[in-house]
Amino acid sequence: MPSRNQFQILAYYRFTPIADPHAEVANHKQFCEGKDILARVYISEMGINGQMSASQKDAAEYIAWMEQHPLFKGVEFKVQPYHEHVFPRLTIKYRKQLVALDSEVDLTQGGEYVTPQQWKELLDGDEEYVLLDVRNDYEWKVGRFKGAELPPCENFREFQQFAEDLKSKIGKKKTPVLMYCTGGIRCEVYSAFLKARGIENIMQLHGGIIKYGEDVGSDHWQGKLFVFDDRLTVPVSNGETEMIGTCHHCGTNVEAYYNCANMKCNYLFLCCPACLKAHEGCCKTECAQSDRLRPYHQQNPHKPFRKWYHYFQEHSKELKDKRQNDQKD
Ligand SMILES: [Zn+2]
Ligand SMILES: [Zn+2]
Repeated sequence: MPSRNQFQILAYYRFTPIADPHAEVANHKQFCEGKDILARVYISEMGINGQMSASQKDAAEYIAWMEQHPLFKGVEFKVQPYHEHVFPRLTIKYRKQLVALDSEVDLTQGGEYVTPQQWKELLDGDEEYVLLDVRNDYEWKVGRFKGAELPPCENFREFQQFAEDLKSKIGKKKTPVLMYCTGGIRCEVYSAFLKARGIENIMQLHGGIIKYGEDVGSDHWQGKLFVFDDRLTVPVSNGETEMIGTCHHCGTNVEAYYNCANMKCNYLFLCCPACLKAHEGCCKTECAQSDRLRPYHQQNPHKPFRKWYHYFQEHSKELKDKRQNDQKD
């Protein structure tokens, strides 16, 4: 009988100097060609950041291949079984920055690694700490550690200001700063940035929320984990958690994300079924007037990214014809 979980979802990264990242992109492409692998892999002069879904066989082959690779030996893979692919295609690309930050940071001077078990103990304890979530706001909105703050990571100037304010708030107390993200890569960069600005006592959750869920469970966590693939939001573990996401329109508790039906907007927002229908899949009234509107009922709450992609594939000609006709009118 075929297993229900015939695929593996891999998440991994490594910061290491890569002399010729374009050659490494080609090398990766060559390996993946003809295999049952879909992915988003980014390679820069500074390292690799990858997410992948693959058949069990090809996932094992990829991991073994990476282990033989002089640059990637010993990379830690977070592996989750799943019943289907979660990426729309195989994307392996050069990207200048693996984590967007408009500043040079010394990645060897990041925060101290904390295992998921140690992380739980820190959160269990009575000692004072500052808890920072360095992901995007839409990730934070649907799930986070209780009491976590969301620094303005998307705006570098604001983040610099945040770092200065944090430093004066902490002062001489050396209050520990606990930092986490989905899989750990963002913490490497943001913890190094904060340390360079004089915040000394930083601890980063090693392996991120993914590893924490696997090793510890859902203690201190609320809501769901946002992931950048077709699953969109997933439980951190089998444990129960309270829902914290709220509908963008009416505030009801929800955990389903949609991309705005206006393709020119495409804003990602949490929405309840009633509001989705009432606003025809749009994030705001103006969007419903757009000339590039996806029919709202075509959106699949579980796969907005893929739907969006397929929608363009299937309807791009139709949309082009429609636009040309509109222009004639
Ligand atoms: Zn609503
Ligand atoms: Zn919109």
